[in-house]
Amino acid sequence: MHEFTPEVEELAKEILAYSLERLKSDPPLDGPRSAEDLFAEVGNTITAKGLGGKKALEVFTEVLAKACISSDHPRNLAFIPSAPSEFANLFDLVVGASALYGGSWQEGAGAVFAENQALRWLSDLAGLPESSGGVFVQGGTIGNLSALVVARAQARKKFPETRRFVVACSEEAHSSIASAANVMDVDILKIPTDENGKLQGAAVGAAVDQLHATGESRVFAVVATAGTTNLGIIDNLASIGKAAHDRDIWFHVDGAYGLAALCAPSVRPLFDGVEMADSFIVDPHKWLFAPYDACALVYREPKYGKEVHTQHASYLETLHDDSWSPSDYAIHLTRRVRGLPFWFSLAAHGVDAYTDAMEQSLVIAKQAAELVRAHPNLELLCEPELSIVAFKRKGWKKEDYQSWSDKLLADQVGFIPPSSHDGEPILRFAIVNPWTKISDIKIILATL
Ligand SMILES: *Cc1c(COP(=O)(O)O)cnc(C)c1O
Repeated sequence: MHEFTPEVEELAKEILAYSLERLKSDPPLDGPRSAEDLFAEVGNTITAKGLGGKKALEVFTEVLAKACISSDHPRNLAFIPSAPSEFANLFDLVVGASALYGGSWQEGAGAVFAENQALRWLSDLAGLPESSGGVFVQGGTIGNLSALVVARAQARKKFPETRRFVVACSEEAHSSIASAANVMDVDILKIPTDENGKLQGAAVGAAVDQLHATGESRVFAVVATAGTTNLGIIDNLASIGKAAHDRDIWFHVDGAYGLAALCAPSVRPLFDGVEMADSFIVDPHKWLFAPYDACALVYREPKYGKEVHTQHASYLETLHDDSWSPSDYAIHLTRRVRGLPFWFSLAAHGVDAYTDAMEQSLVIAKQAAELVRAHPNLELLCEPELSIVAFKRKGWKKEDYQSWSDKLLADQVGFIPPSSHDGEPILRFAIVNPWTKISDIKIILATL
């Protein structure tokens, strides 16, 4: 039988104590150190005899963990950070201790059932039909790629003569769309947005028609972004969805960051048209209070996903029945049940708590935008649609932004790396953390 030695038991207690302390206290900001510096302190940790659990844990907690920036610090407003709920983080410990296989129904039925209910909540919020479904994948990048591969397979069936396939998106689309196009060896049609940074259906229709009229290339998918990463702008989903479907083209909505706000009534109308999506993604590890790494990928017609992504081999045929195997819906086979921490937190807290937390981030973003507007040295770029507040510091050059940001981190005040817009440096607050208070924003603004 299973042997649980006193040494393991002791280590379990230490690990639980460390995890509990980490959850209870303010997350450290800390910051990166060079590999040489870290080596000088810990040396080579991989040895013939092993360090022992106690020592290896100490190396991590005392040195390595302190060379990382916590993504859930309330003044870490960089990129899109993360703010897992305590329940979600705690349940990740359960997942880690359970050796659950999330690739097939046969092996992971109970866990997959729970993941599917969490996915159902998202697809219901989006207004997709009962038949929709999907899978939690590693991140938005893999989610977008997996969806686009399915979209192309559909186009290949419908338009077998096509020489070159093209994915259409706006200039503000996330870098992962270009990455997917590169992996798939397809071209990209970048369509200009309107003066508010929103992609509109009319522009999509015109650009696609022009491409189809003048060449042998064909657009196999139109990607709309529901919450751009830089500024949080939501494309005009209804008109884009219509432009795509009028031309028999797959409509994919990249909502890695923004679609989380589907559960916030105050902004829900901004997402109208998402119900037309053939596929969409949203990352619970961004704004739905789940730990890394989890992207929900949902298809209107999951059977198309299954046609493309199911892997075939003699040793796998036993799995191929009518049951729902998550490995069939994306580019992966073995997978951890990464949707479970999200499911647990959602099940335990109830969806109203998610709505409240989401509305709260939206309020903080609005208040932050007002403070920026009132600040003598700052210039607000645009009114936030979601929870990203972008602005410029009058009179600063690129180097000034960088040195301010470096000092902010070095002083342990916050983590706000500069970005750019229209070729000009900007700063942005990405607010996804319920612990981020307006007092945190004031502390940062006082340094500008
Ligand atoms: C973050 C993001 C992605 C990529 O998601 P990862 O989980 O980082 O791979 C894709 N699209 C948008 C709009 C994003 O904000």
